[in-house]
Amino acid sequence: MAKECLCQANEVVILPCSGGSNCGQIANRVAVHLTEEGVGSLFCLAGIGAHISGMIESARSAKRLVAIDGCSVECAKKTLEHAGLNITDYIDVTEEGIAKNKNFKLSQQDILFIVKRIKQELRKVK
Ligand code: SF4
Repeated sequence: MAKECLCQANEVVILPCSGGSNCGQIANRVAVHLTEEGVGSLFCLAGIGAHISGMIESARSAKRLVAIDGCSVECAKKTLEHAGLNITDYIDVTEEGIAKNKNFKLSQQDILFIVKRIKQELRKVK
């Protein structure tokens, strides 16, 4: 079987940190939500971190590269920068007023708020 990832870059690529906190998982759920709505395409941040060249080039071909970090440690942002990718849109969930904790019963209201914020960012011409 070919070693290929099924996530393919399109015009809007979304890379959440998917970290081990409520905010990291909110980032992930937001990316899934936006993908299901057809706003963009969830992409594998781990593949970028692993320096999978085809995935890096695929992400590079996107028109908008959306990074969503759960907190100010900025793991997604730093991973993408380390790979030489240019982030066009960025959200830190805690910067949006959501406190980081280990409660994984995620608030749908929080998820939809971050979804709205990313849509606002994507409406900006860049
Ligand atoms: S940005 Fe924060 S929540 Fe996300 S993986 Fe890093 S430490 Fe975890």
